[in-house]
This record gives sequence, structure tokens and C-alpha cells, in this order.
Amino acid sequence: MDYIVCFDIGGTFIKYGVINRNGQMLFKDKVETPKSDIQKLLPELLVEKIEILQNEFLIVGIGISSCGLINHEKGEILFSNNLPGYSGMKLSEILFNHFKLPVSVENDVKSACLGEMWRGAIQGKKNVVFLTLGTGIGSTIIIDGNIVNGSNYLAGELGHTVIVNGGRQCGCGRRGCYERYAATSAFVNDFIEETKKNGEDVENISGEEILKLVEKGDPIASAVYTRFIHYISLGLSNIVHLLNPEAIIIGGGIAERADQFIQDINAEIKKEVMPIYHQDQDVLVFPSILGNDAGLFGACHLTLKKLSHLQV
Ligand SMILES: [Zn+2]
Repeated sequence: MDYIVCFDIGGTFIKYGVINRNGQMLFKDKVETPKSDIQKLLPELLVEKIEILQNEFLIVGIGISSCGLINHEKGEILFSNNLPGYSGMKLSEILFNHFKLPVSVENDVKSACLGEMWRGAIQGKKNVVFLTLGTGIGSTIIIDGNIVNGSNYLAGELGHTVIVNGGRQCGCGRRGCYERYAATSAFVNDFIEETKKNGEDVENISGEEILKLVEKGDPIASAVYTRFIHYISLGLSNIVHLLNPEAIIIGGGIAERADQFIQDINAEIKKEVMPIYHQDQDVLVFPSILGNDAGLFGACHLTLKKLSHLQV
């Protein structure tokens, strides 16, 4: 049996794993992302990990899922917001020159979406929108089975479509962007703000913890939650009218273990979209199945595709 070694490079951690052709993950670990001298330390770290894994597994390809704007054809990091010094790295070339193995490099949200298409929640579907709710909103659009890249790999940034005219300031420079209302961070910030108004001082709380308070009937959490569901659904309804997808998959910690959360979004979307859009299907929104591993599976799938082209 031969294996693909896959990495999911984020701003804080690099997750990595070994996956076989059938999509079974046989090894998984993570390591902190180097904080300085990325151009030197990051490739060194990847090389070190691959060499260690080569002692145990017959590695036939390398798959990289990475934060940032990626040219997947060249395997190059065009721009990274959260890892200074990473922009411009020719990751594919560096790893190919060292190992002489096929290397694929793709953006992490696109990789996660491909992972869900291969082994997760979107198997067999051809028109799909994939979102991850976290600090911001990452998103990918699939039409006729293909990722929509746009002319400069920039297509599908749903997080920066405006849903409130003149609304909250966004990091992108505009006001009222979707992610300022519908990302998990917005949910948490709203909750903290509302509790402060009530004279309480909550500093550190996660979206999942607030969901637990909602379940217990906490009035502040419930009010913030109702608004959050509305904003998420408002943005998704725009997507439904624009793209008429078969399914919308939501990833991110908050979506993966919260059935009620997904049900509430489905119910709210029904109120927002024209009835003809949901006459054939009751449920449009589904949670991601693979969670944090989706990027690794997507990276593996892309490398396997590359291998099969090479073998033809
Ligand atoms: Zn924005």
C-alpha cells in the first residue's frame, strides 16, 4: 500500500496526517506553525516531518492545504494575511526539488470543501456552497462539480459581501460585511457586549459554550442567538437565490456538534427564500462531517488526482 502525506497549514498550527488511497487516515498529529523566519523554518519543518514518516510509510505524494491566497497550478502562496513572510513561497517547487514526489497545494477552505466532496458531507453533489464559521467566514463555491476560482483565485469570498448598509467596520476596509455578523467571533462578541450591558463581565467564552447557555434558556444568550441565526440565514438566502445550490455545508466548531443550530438555520432560510427554492427539498443546510480533518482529506484527494494523471 502507498500513502500520501498531507499538511494543513494554519496561522497557529500545522496539522498533518498520512492517508491511503481509500481515504483512511492512518496517522495524525499537529505542530505549532513557526512564528518567525517562515521562508526558512516552514519548509525545513515540513521536510523533517515527511522524512520521519517515510521511515514508516511508503509515501508517493505530498498534499498541502494552506491558509492564504494560493495559485494551485503553480503550488505557490500568493498572499497570506495571518503569516507574515509566507507570501511568495513556492511551496510545491521546494518540496518537489527535495523529494521528487508529486506535490499539490491548495487553499485550506477549498481543500476542506474537496475533502467533504471526497469523503464527507457532499459526496455525489455537484452544486454546493461550503462555509466555515470561525474568526471570519471562509467559503467555496462548487458549480457543476468544479471549484469556482475566478480570474485571480479570488472568487467565493462570501464573508465580504455586505448584508448591512453602513454596518460594522470590517477588516477588509468596508462596512457591514457578512462575516462581521455571521462568523462565530461576531456571535461571541455580541454576547460579551450584551452581558456587559447587563452589568456582567464575561471575557473568555466560546461559541459552543454560548450554545449551551441557549439550551439552558439563558435570556441574553437566546436573544443574541436568535439574531445570529437570522444573520447567517440572511446571507445564505442571498446565496440560494444567486446559485440555487443542492446543499450548503457549514463547518467550524460551532456547526459540527450542534444539530439544533443547523435545524434553526434551515427553518430561518425557509422564511427568507422564495418558496420555489425549497419546494423539492426540506433541508438545504448540512453540517460538515470531517471537521478539522477536511483539509487533510482534500489535500490527499488533489494529490491522488495528480498521481493518476501522471500514471496515465
Ligand atoms: Zn469585509
